[in-house]
Amino acid sequence: MEESQPAPIDLEAIRERYAYERDRRIRPDGARQYRSAAGEFGYYAKDPYTPFTEREPKTDGVDVLVIGAGFGGLLASASLRDAGFESIRLMDEAGDVGGTWYWNRYPGVRCDVESYVYMPLLEETGAMPTERYAKGEEIRRHAVRIAEHYDLYRDTLFQTRSTSLTWDEGQSEWIIETDRGDRFSARYVITSTGTLTQPKLPGIPGIERFRGHTFHTSRWDYAYTGGTADGNLTGLADKRVAVIGTGATGLQAVPLLAESAGELLVFQRTPSTVDVRDNRPTDPEWAASLKPGWQRERMENFLAVLAGEPVSELLVTDGWTATVALQRNIISGAVDDSLSDEERALRDELDDAATMNRIRARVEEVVADPATAEALKPWYRYMCKRPGFSDHYLQVFNRPGVTLVDTSDTQGITAMTEGGIVVGDKEFAVDCVVFATGFDTGVSGVMSGTLPVTGRDGRGLLESWATGPRTLHGFYSHGFPNLFHLGALQNANSVNFVHILQEQAEHVAAVVARAERAGAQRIEPTAEAEEQWLCTLRETARDTTAFQAECTPGYYNGEGTRSITGFSYSPGPVAFHRLLREWREGDMSDVLVHETTAAEVAS
Ligand code: NDP
Repeated sequence: MEESQPAPIDLEAIRERYAYERDRRIRPDGARQYRSAAGEFGYYAKDPYTPFTEREPKTDGVDVLVIGAGFGGLLASASLRDAGFESIRLMDEAGDVGGTWYWNRYPGVRCDVESYVYMPLLEETGAMPTERYAKGEEIRRHAVRIAEHYDLYRDTLFQTRSTSLTWDEGQSEWIIETDRGDRFSARYVITSTGTLTQPKLPGIPGIERFRGHTFHTSRWDYAYTGGTADGNLTGLADKRVAVIGTGATGLQAVPLLAESAGELLVFQRTPSTVDVRDNRPTDPEWAASLKPGWQRERMENFLAVLAGEPVSELLVTDGWTATVALQRNIISGAVDDSLSDEERALRDELDDAATMNRIRARVEEVVADPATAEALKPWYRYMCKRPGFSDHYLQVFNRPGVTLVDTSDTQGITAMTEGGIVVGDKEFAVDCVVFATGFDTGVSGVMSGTLPVTGRDGRGLLESWATGPRTLHGFYSHGFPNLFHLGALQNANSVNFVHILQEQAEHVAAVVARAERAGAQRIEPTAEAEEQWLCTLRETARDTTAFQAECTPGYYNGEGTRSITGFSYSPGPVAFHRLLREWREGDMSDVLVHETTAAEVAS
């Protein structure tokens, strides 16, 4: 780690500065400032990686349909394969498996969590990442490896979006319709549709007038830029290129763009935190020394550390494990109850300020031009935005031909013209604009309304959830048999989200296998079990609204208008996984239904 002198902490001054920086960024239009990559902007979401192929609609029946072929869907399918299921169909809008790693192929894309704990099923598939933080393409290929290893390509529907799920009570199965004219049945449906899937654009006045080339980072146009995710973007050599957005994506894409572009303008509204990355190749001796079971042990250890649970040894040390207590402001987990709430809040705030001071000092150490360095300093609490890590991003601003354009005074870019980008009264002529502007939240899957679900008695899922989601453990709902949701819903979260998905996948597979063995007619939680889980969530809830209200705007806090953390299981993922394990040891009588009574049908 790079050394920097700790700055003295003046908490009052820091609080004032944070409030000032937040206030000047709050826009009355909040999340409405963005445009979805749909309708007239639909071409921004078009798949540039796989040519569209025609196929005949499906009208058959399968045992299990898995919607979403990212790591969640792959892990659920792999667990079901291990449990003996042969008839598994994977469906995705993409042209292949990989989810976020299918879509995000921009130059510099890498994993932000150590690959040895992030990339799932390494031992099962005989794989070892080549680097501590693997490249996106390596991770995407690992997703393909998993699909091949578990023979999941046998039955896939890519380039396909499900348009409705309807429970057929007579046949005890789901009828699935899609945008490709399919109408087939499945006994079980698992949805794992991700959260940050739909690219979004800033609603910049005149955006449609720009005559140069534009695209979103999650649909990288290599036909225009040339090169690969490793760089060498020869098509940009004579171009003046603009990047809009400096979140986790911007941080990774900017260094390689700077190497290739004739000139690069980085349009920043709010600076990210940029902490030390410390990537390195995998040490072959270390890899050879690992004993069977090492990955699970490392994943569990990392999860426990981040969840604030006691561990005897720290197997991973990185920027995430260094900021555990600060993550509690956003992510569920155990808190230190040897202190009062007030004492803990003050300790965390001091800790936060020390971390942020160190990060701000790093900007000053690395960036030569004082005005640029000043503009790159983040002024908010550590978890207000997704923490960033890079050993190349800040350095880019010392290169000739790279300019940082600070748009904070105008709350972002003012306008776009035929030839460029306007900030305040200054116009910057550019040939190409790369939107690193992130994703719509909550637009995919059953919660979004884009996939209507009709359960027993013709009841809609969102109708049934009119006052908020109702599930048992986040997986399933009363009235919607044999339907499972994977993702962040009424359960526990962590930075290593793939691990969270793996536990969910294994749980669902175990429940389905048990139901099959027990000859259960369907899997459906009782209304009482569902209610009890909601009570548990309420009783254990920790309110992060105050923290988020003081944060600079971003997608974590609905652009400064609300808290979006919602209901999760506050004691954290380790406690949640323990709870699931104990529940599985029981008789599962609160979800396994052996016969349909008239009363149940009517309830
Ligand atoms: P973000 O939403 O984090 O960032 C969008 C960027 O666009 C912000 O810098 C935002 O500024 C800027 N922006 C938006 N509108 C305007 C405007 N009108 N004018 C100027 N700037 C504007 O998107 P990312 O794609 O960077 O990241 C999304 C998430 O994806 C991450 O938080 C992370 O969870 C995940 N991710 C993970 C990676 C990994 O693990 N390797 C890599 C990349 C992404 P402002 O902050 O002011 O709103």
